[in-house]
Amino acid sequence: MAKLSIRDLKVESREVLMRVDFNVPLQDGEITDDTRIAAALPSIKHLLAGGARLVLCSHLGRPKGEPDVRYSLKPAGVRLGELLKHDVSFASDCIGVGAAAKRAALGSGEVLLLENTRFHAGEKANDCEFATALAGNATAFVNDAFGTAHRAHGSTEGVTHHVEVSAMGFLIERELEFLCEKLASPERPFVVILGGAKVSDKIEVITALLEKADCLIIGGAMANTFLHAQGYSMGNSLLEGDKSGLALDILSKAEAKGVRILLPVDTRMTREFKEGAETKVTAPYSEGGEVEDGWEGIDIGDRAIEEFCSEIAAARTIVWNGPMGVFELDSFEKGTKEVAQAVADSGALTIVGGGDSVTAVKKYNLGDSMSFISTGGGASLELLEGKELPGVAALTDI
Ligand code: AMP
Repeated sequence: MAKLSIRDLKVESREVLMRVDFNVPLQDGEITDDTRIAAALPSIKHLLAGGARLVLCSHLGRPKGEPDVRYSLKPAGVRLGELLKHDVSFASDCIGVGAAAKRAALGSGEVLLLENTRFHAGEKANDCEFATALAGNATAFVNDAFGTAHRAHGSTEGVTHHVEVSAMGFLIERELEFLCEKLASPERPFVVILGGAKVSDKIEVITALLEKADCLIIGGAMANTFLHAQGYSMGNSLLEGDKSGLALDILSKAEAKGVRILLPVDTRMTREFKEGAETKVTAPYSEGGEVEDGWEGIDIGDRAIEEFCSEIAAARTIVWNGPMGVFELDSFEKGTKEVAQAVADSGALTIVGGGDSVTAVKKYNLGDSMSFISTGGGASLELLEGKELPGVAALTDI
């Protein structure tokens, strides 16, 4: 996918519209984590240094297609100003006469943030009239919001039809470099670690990775579904009983392709889903182990940890998406924590997919030890599935 990059744009005195991901967590109107705003700074600084008249747009949260003060981007504009050490003006609607006037008044090297695009139903509907209004008089568009690039919305796809050129920002460029280019011919062994709640959420990514990976390590509640399908008693564990056929099908496809699938050989279980609860590890399943009635599997067991970690240590390329257990509670975190450490220590090219594995990496302060941490959960899974992201596909080809 050869697409125009922000580096290729001539922006001096040009009105440039940039889609950023300022979907930050808020509590009582205060931003509790500004990582996403900070992540957009390289692209913003680059355009301002080039003399662009820069207009930023983003969504925040899930308003219902109409203004809702709880989801205002105003605090994000204030924080951006602090991080940038530069005035950031704000338009209280992303389209309409007020926004148009503020855009027209922008000078070279000045920046304006528009209010939440999802205050209009036309954003998610990718309505042409909305996209035309959002594009306004901008002649260039930059998309730097990877987290929403898998959605064809007005501000990610629609606007590209109403400007002269559309380019990717530095953030999207880096996501594509790691999730597409580097994984096109990975150094082997290529090991993929999948976890989290549901097999059904990750079925497409598993199928796609069976074509590429040497080994798939499966943990989390997802693994319970596979173990249940193989006939093991899983007590009260979270699992998808109706996905047994699918799980067995994946196992036989993997065997046919010579891809090894490692399931936990044992499981840590508890009777009470709370911090400090008593836990114990099943005997290995091969020796008659089971999750007893009244207990539920909440993490991989100690032998599973050992086996997973030695596989990880031998890998040259690792993709990790999804925790091994309920790592949010310290009592159930051991599997996720040790797997995270093993990935960090592997010396391999390490790519952490979005969502909960990123939260885990942050919890254990291992961010600096990973080669790349993706900023988008759904979008990174779709790239791994080999899908084209609408927000990237719509950018200008080179
Ligand atoms: P996902 O969004 O599918 O990546 O799932 C992440 C969630 O799965 C996390 O909140 C974990 O707490 C949860 N999870 C992982 N393993 C288990 C398990 N064995 N039982 C219940 N929940 C789990």
